[in-house]
Amino acid sequence: MHGMFKVAVLPGDGIGPEVIAEGLKVLRAIEEVGGPRFRFQAGLVGGCAIDATAVPLPPETISICNQAQAVLLGAVGGPRWDSRRPDNRPETGLLQLRQRLKVYVNLRPARVIDALVGLSALKPDRVRGTDLVIVRELMGGIYFGNPRGIFSKNGERMGVNTEVYREHEIERVAHRAFQLARQRRKKVTSVDKANVLESSRLWREVVTRVGESYRDVELEHLYVDNCAMRLIDRPTSFDVLLTNNMFGDILSDEAAMLTGSIGLLPSASLGERSGLYEPVHGSAPDIAGRNRANPIATIASVAMMLRHSLRMERAALAIEAAIEKVLKQGVRTPDIPGRKRPVSTTRMGNIIAQETVKLLKSSRFHPEPEAS
Ligand code: NAD
Repeated sequence: MHGMFKVAVLPGDGIGPEVIAEGLKVLRAIEEVGGPRFRFQAGLVGGCAIDATAVPLPPETISICNQAQAVLLGAVGGPRWDSRRPDNRPETGLLQLRQRLKVYVNLRPARVIDALVGLSALKPDRVRGTDLVIVRELMGGIYFGNPRGIFSKNGERMGVNTEVYREHEIERVAHRAFQLARQRRKKVTSVDKANVLESSRLWREVVTRVGESYRDVELEHLYVDNCAMRLIDRPTSFDVLLTNNMFGDILSDEAAMLTGSIGLLPSASLGERSGLYEPVHGSAPDIAGRNRANPIATIASVAMMLRHSLRMERAALAIEAAIEKVLKQGVRTPDIPGRKRPVSTTRMGNIIAQETVKLLKSSRFHPEPEAS
């Protein structure tokens, strides 16, 4: 039976609307081959929302997102809004949205596609075959803990932040990591600094306990400094990397450098009910409005949305296979060096959408939602 999925669409600023248009094109392609229908509802976030409503996350956008099964976001920000107060800048809208949707886990895959192995900051023989996902806790830890602030004591100022993790916060993100590992190569590497930090000691204890319910998944613990080295030395040794908020922030940027262009990297932020999908990159004001942006990060985020929020694994795989095939054929936007003349944002979107349709027509990728 074909369903109807409600998707909130927040294009945002800069190249956001350009890359989102290409993501939606691929969803339309799925409708075309008899998949479920999508109802898109657009909302404002970031700088465009400030211009229209004076705030970066208007109540109407929150209501659109709450009614949707998934949220697809482009990017926010730009020099026009850089001089605003920190609490009323475009980026604040994004942070508020994550809080309002209670998305407590962020997934960032880093996969080195064979056709682009030469783009990595590392030598091809080191990175070839890298395929990992960082599962980062998103709502706790040192970014939110109290006390925090800059205080004066004995005539000197001191900056204070506090890392706090409650057991249930560690448990829920750990379950997500083990469940994801079960769908992949069945290995979780949990990252901490348990030799120094009490919060990390609790982290390690709780992750070990949760791991006992997933006997089929291998669990290893690594100190964050060791993990940072191993990401460069042996990136292929990782499958699922489970981290707290701050370690994940840093390690996910390090992992991004393994794969090449920032225009390729998708992300998903998940809660109990909501899913927020967005490319890792920002609004790229330097190329905005010129039809030069790479839409692949957004299209790959659409694939994650189909997988994690809409239970359409086969359609997700079809999109990912289409992206890989198109890159293998040498089709490139200007951010990726290649032999052929680069194509525009819209052309790249068209080619991937057409390829997705072709793949979906083959029985292997039939797009029906899978039974839950
Ligand atoms: P950026 O990611 O926007 O751009 C960095 C560089 O990568 C630029 O040279 C840009 O042209 C290039 N680039 C980025 N995405 C690309 C794509 N899809 N295709 C081709 N090239 C691409 O980061 P920045 O320049 O530091 O930030 C610009 C604005 O975006 C700032 O206002 C920043 O606050 C905001 N930002 C938003 C998000 C978000 O919305 N999630 C994330 C990061 C930065």
